[in-house]
This record gives sequence, C-alpha cells and structure tokens, in this order.
Amino acid sequence: MVDNFETDVFVIGGGPAGLAAALAAKRKGFRVILGDGMKPPIDKACGEGLMPDAVEAARAIGIPLPTSPRAPFRGIRFLGNGVSATADFPDGTGWGMRRTALHQTMIEAARAAGVDLRWETVVTGIDGCRVHLSNGGVTARWIVGADGGQSLARKWASLDTGMRGSHRFGFRRHYQVAPWAEYVEVHWGDAFQIYITPVAPEEVCVALISRDPRRRLDDALSAFPELAARLRHASVSSSDRGATSSTRKLKKVWSGRVALIGDASGSVDAVTGEGLCLAFQQAGALADAFARNDLASYQTAHDRISQRPRLMSALLLSLDRIPPLRRRVLQAFAGKPELFSRVLAAHVGAARLSELASAGIALGAELL
Ligand SMILES: Cc1cc2nc3c(=O)[nH]c(=O)nc-3n(C[C@H](O)[C@H](O)[C@H](O)COP(=O)(O)OP(=O)(O)OC[C@H]3O[C@@H](n4cnc5c(N)ncnc54)[C@H](O)[C@@H]3O)c2cc1C
Repeated sequence: MVDNFETDVFVIGGGPAGLAAALAAKRKGFRVILGDGMKPPIDKACGEGLMPDAVEAARAIGIPLPTSPRAPFRGIRFLGNGVSATADFPDGTGWGMRRTALHQTMIEAARAAGVDLRWETVVTGIDGCRVHLSNGGVTARWIVGADGGQSLARKWASLDTGMRGSHRFGFRRHYQVAPWAEYVEVHWGDAFQIYITPVAPEEVCVALISRDPRRRLDDALSAFPELAARLRHASVSSSDRGATSSTRKLKKVWSGRVALIGDASGSVDAVTGEGLCLAFQQAGALADAFARNDLASYQTAHDRISQRPRLMSALLLSLDRIPPLRRRVLQAFAGKPELFSRVLAAHVGAARLSELASAGIALGAELL
C-alpha cells in the first residue's frame, strides 16, 4: 500500500484482543504497530477457559495456543439446587490455560510475525490519523481500539454514545490441585456463580461472578461445602485478582478510521466463557475489512459474531436473576441431559440458532 502513513494499523492495547487483531492484520500483509501501557506478560481476572469455538477461532487466524501448561475439558457441568447436569461438547475440546501463558504465547507469535510491539507505551489520545503516545506519536491508516472494557479509544472516537449495559463483579484465584473433573464446573449460588476451570495438570482456576461487589470467594465457597472441602488443603497458587464483568452493547463499533475490538467493542457476561472467542472472531473479521478497505463491513460481521453469545448471556443472566427458573432449568438439564447438550452445542456454535430455539421450546415443555 503506498501512502504517507507510518503504519497501516496501530493497535491500542496489547491484551488478547489487541494481539489477535495485530496477528490477523499482519497475516493480510499490513504493517502493524501495537502499543500497551503495561509490561508483559499481563495478567487479568479471567476464568481462563477457551471453548472449542474459541480454539477454532484462534486457529483460523493463526494464533498459537500454549501447549503446556494447559488442561483439556470436554464440556460443562452445572451444579446447584442439589442437582448436577453435564453436557459434552459435540466436537472438539476446550482448553484451560493461565492467562499469562496465553499472553506470552500470543506475544511471541506477534513478534515472530513482525508486529512492532511497544510495551509500557500509553496511548494518550488520537487525532485524525495521529496516535499520541506517552513517548511520541505515530500516523496510521487505521486505528484499532483494543483497550478493554474501560476503553478510552471508544470515547475518543465518540463511539460510547447510546452505550447500554449492566455489570457484575468477578474475582479469580488459582489452587494447586489436580483437576477432579474433565469439565468446567459452574456452581450456581443465589445471585452468584463459582466456576472451576482446569488450567494445568495440577492446577485449577476458581472464578466468582456476582452482582454484589462486596462478595468474596471465601464467603461464596462456604455455600458449596463439597467444593470448599476439595480446595481446603490445596495451596493457593496466585493472588486474588478482580475485574468488572460487563454486558455491554454499542450502537456502532467503528467510525472514520477507528474500529473497536474485544471488550472495548462491547461484551457479554463472563459466565458465558465467550469473551476470548469473540475477540478472536472479531480479529479475523476486522482484518478482512482492512483488506477490503471497508470498515463498514466490520460492523455487519461484528453484529453477526455477537448475536449468539448475547442471546446465551441473556439466558444465563436470567438463571442468575430468577431462582425458581434456575431450579427448574437445572432439574430439566439433569433429567434430560440431551437437552443440555443441544443448548451447549448452540452455545459453542456447533448448532444453528434455530436449533437453540427448538431446544428452548423443548425446555419450555419440560418446565411446564
Ligand atoms: C472474572 C472474569 C472471568 C472471565 N472468564 C472468561 C473465560 O473463562 N473465557 C473467556 O473467553 N473469557 C472470559 N472472560 C472475558 C475475557 O477475560 C475478556 O473478554 C478479555 O480479557 C478481553 O480482552 P481485551 O484484550 O479486549 O481486553 P483486556 O484484556 O482488558 O486488554 C486491554 C489492554 O489494553 C491496555 N490499555 C488500556 N488502555 C490503554 C492505553 N490508553 N494505552 C495503551 N494501552 C492501554 C491494557 O493495559 C490492556 O493490556 C472473563 C472475564 C472476567 C472479568
């Protein structure tokens, strides 16, 4: 491409979404610079599970995943109200891995691909094609806002008007213990969930998501004596980390030469386990839009990619909000595991949305 810009793409933020955007753009042959204010590898509160659709999305844009340490999971198990319901993924395997391991592997791939990585470089503003940095500035044909849920790029590009959303609060902690199940376990409490992801042969990630900002893991664990007993003698292998889990929808995810990706571009509740998958799928779509020189096409793709996770997020949040519904759905899934499997297949994109609707009708019949 012949122009006077110093780079084709400048990515603001080097979390998973920014690195995915950089890698996908680089694969299309663009010059890419990425700036992040932090020093890598960057840790963040996350459930650390990649479902099969996320693994496939990573593969599709050439993101290598860490091969060790990591741990597989073959489906999801819901526990609560005295019942347990299990569903396997129809295809593929999910992988749990420490966030820092994922970050390090993505950084190495981006470096090898030739992305100009600038750590400890804060982006302080954008002005047309100019990106202002804490240590200088760069001109870019396109600017990608991958700066997370509290995105300033979103504000600078005036894409935060009409933004809708709700928030919950997440905490995570790691325990040194062999995973006791080949599933991500979601323990349903009253207005909170604890979920357990195997992340290494001898380590699990325990994440709490709650509406109450004062609730902490130790209080929440006391509601699940069996789970608490499993963890009681395991050593804690990380310090607690918290983050907001937002369900957020933007009217528009691009404007002029700026496009948003990952949590900056809207998000679904953490309990869906779909945040990273969304970022990887969006990265592929954004690189395609750059190649077509048509950012409007990214909006269409972004809407399509977000549709299914948004629906699942709404369903899961209604189970959180309405205890009688939760009790009856858990009982229905435990009594009819094939129903749970159909919903999970739709959740990970292995079945069409119409299949989710028919599973919903079957579930409704079960509840009646
Ligand atoms: C408790 C919890 C559990 C979750 N569990 C899962 C799960 O199991 N599976 C899953 O797929 N998803 C999960 N998610 C969601 C997932 O973690 C997010 O979707 C993902 O981290 C979003 O990545 P991102 O790159 O968009 O944002 P971030 O990871 O927040 O990265 C943004 C980056 O931008 C940088 N930055 C910000 N401002 C600037 C600036 N001005 N200049 C330079 N750099 C800047 C930051 O330093 C940061 O590195 C969970 C989330 C929470 C809160």
